[in-house]
Amino acid sequence: MTVLVFIDSDFPAGRIADANQPQLFATDLGATRGDGIFESLLAVENKPKKIQAHLDRLASSATLLELEIPTAEQWRAAIDTALAEFDQPEAVVKLLVTRGVEGAKQATAWVQVSPLPALGKQQRERGLTVILLDRGYDSEVALRAPWLLLGAKTLSYAVNMAALRYAQQHGADDVIFTSADGRVLEGPTSSVLIAKVSEENGSQLKRLITPQLDSGILPGTTQGALFAAAQRAGWQLGYGPLEPKHLYEADAAWLISSVRLLAPINSIDGQQIGEDTQRAELTAELSAILASTE
Ligand code: PLP
Repeated sequence: MTVLVFIDSDFPAGRIADANQPQLFATDLGATRGDGIFESLLAVENKPKKIQAHLDRLASSATLLELEIPTAEQWRAAIDTALAEFDQPEAVVKLLVTRGVEGAKQATAWVQVSPLPALGKQQRERGLTVILLDRGYDSEVALRAPWLLLGAKTLSYAVNMAALRYAQQHGADDVIFTSADGRVLEGPTSSVLIAKVSEENGSQLKRLITPQLDSGILPGTTQGALFAAAQRAGWQLGYGPLEPKHLYEADAAWLISSVRLLAPINSIDGQQIGEDTQRAELTAELSAILASTE
C-alpha cells in the first residue's frame, strides 16, 4: 500500500490521492527533465524522524534550484495526513517537488508514504560489499560550478541508480564514489563514515570521521544526528579529507542514511575493512546511539 497526499491550496491538510491512478501530468517537468527535489525519511509510530533536518535540507535544495516550494507547515500537515492514512509501525516518507507542468510556473508537491523495504535490515545485519567508483568531478567543483547542483537532493538520481546497478553487476552491494582528485565522497544513497580507535595515556580514544561536507556531497541528516549524539557520548569527530587509504586503515566503516540507518562495510574492492568482532561492537554501539536520537 502506498499513500499519496498532494499539497494543494484548497486543502489545508493536503489532498489524499489514489496511488493506483495516474496523478501527474505527462508534461510535468519532474517527469520530462527530472527537474525537482526530494527528501526520503523514516517514520516510526506515525512520527517522522529528524523532520526539521529534512525540511531544512529540502529548503536548501530548493534555493539551489531556484524553486518555490510549500511552507514547512504545509509539509508537516501533509505528512501527518499521509501517516494517519498509512497507519503502520514503520514507513518510508518521501517529500517530492517538481518544477510543475511546462509553462505553468507552479511547483507540483506531494508526500508519498510506503512500506519499509526489507533490504535495509538485511544490510545492517549482514554488512555490505562495496566498490569504489569514480564520479569524475574533483572535490572542489561544487564551489566552482554551482549549476551542477551537487549539494542538492535533486530528482535526477539516474546516475546514482546506474552506479548501484554497476555494483550489482560486479558482485557488490553498494558504491562509494571518489572524486577526480582522489577523495572519498559518498554512496549513491548514503553518507560514508569511518571509525578509528586508539589508546592514549591508558584510555581509549574513539574518532568518527566523515568526508568534508563541502566536497560536493549531500550533507547527510543521519550523519549529522549521529555525530551530535556520538559527541555527547564521548566520541571525537572529524570531517575529512578522506582518501581510499583511510578507508582501508579504518577500524570500521559504514554507509549511513535515513531509511537504511547504519550499515557496516565488510569489504571495499575485495579488501576487508577492520576486524569482524570490533566492527560488530562498534556497529552495535553507534546503532544504539543513533536509535536514541529523535
Ligand atoms: N548522500 C546521498 C547522495 C543520498 O542520496 C543520501 C540519502 O538518500 C545521503 C547522502 C544520506 O542522507 P540522509 O542521512 O539525510 O538520508
